[in-house]
Amino acid sequence: MNRAEEILFKEGLKEENLLKLKKVSKGEVHNHCSTGMRFSAFNKWAGGNAIQAPKRMDGVRELNEYIFNEVNKRIRNEEDIAFLIEETVKEAIEDGIKILETSIDCHELMNFTQHNNFFQIILHIKDKYKEHIDFRPEVGMAITTSREDLDKYLIPCIESGVFMSIDSYGEETTDGYKRLKEYYKYAREKGLKLKVHAGQFMVAENVRTAIELLEVDEIQHGIGAASSDYIMGLIKERKLRLNVCPSSNYILGAVKDIRNHPARRLFDNDITITINSDDLLLFDSGVSQEFLLLYKLGLFDEDELNEIRKNALAL
Ligand SMILES: [Zn+2]
Repeated sequence: MNRAEEILFKEGLKEENLLKLKKVSKGEVHNHCSTGMRFSAFNKWAGGNAIQAPKRMDGVRELNEYIFNEVNKRIRNEEDIAFLIEETVKEAIEDGIKILETSIDCHELMNFTQHNNFFQIILHIKDKYKEHIDFRPEVGMAITTSREDLDKYLIPCIESGVFMSIDSYGEETTDGYKRLKEYYKYAREKGLKLKVHAGQFMVAENVRTAIELLEVDEIQHGIGAASSDYIMGLIKERKLRLNVCPSSNYILGAVKDIRNHPARRLFDNDITITINSDDLLLFDSGVSQEFLLLYKLGLFDEDELNEIRKNALAL
């Protein structure tokens, strides 16, 4: 790891200098690409009619409501999908992200008469920015997606060879995790890395269910695990990485007081964590900003944050 970058990163934190932090290599491994850009860029694309997300939201319900009304309703064609993906990649480059794992919902296939056009758009963007960023497309879907849709949209994405990982998100239901089991198994056979949202709203048991049913490599959020020594033990035993998003947790009400964010407890229990933005459009805080926030809150010191930064750059 580059020593000069380590020095610059720690200086950036101590001086509260965002520009320095942006210059340092970082990874972003929990990001959703239809909401991965700043509001200003999104609103310009939306013709100036977009509404900004509220500063505090009532969990996944209000989050989904916003995404449905402000984002999904505006997606009409192939160019719209291309814009959202490319803008997310450009935003990550601007923040000094060198490895970007961002989920693209498999339902986006609906907007393409030819499946191959969808895959080509993604590959084109990957190639266009390859000098600046290692963009690793991830296929995503809601945990509650029906079997019919999984067969119709997820399977072609898994088989395309374009996606390097899989993630599912939204309402955490045991039925949903159970339904996904065979699809995750298939994704594994095809060489994809497995991730899942679990424990986002502090329900430790969901983390256990997701780990045991889906046999994932990484958990998105997973902060619920901090309340259970048993589940933290399970995470360590399986060497799972937890991709944490502090501002998202606070704004959606999962964490009431950000000064007590469970990332600290997870870290103290030797769990590998990374720090991520989740949805830049909604939470308005990139990875560099998240690091600075955690430093200013006094949750971690500069050496600990540097260690966490490197976790997202590990292959
Ligand atoms: Zn997420």
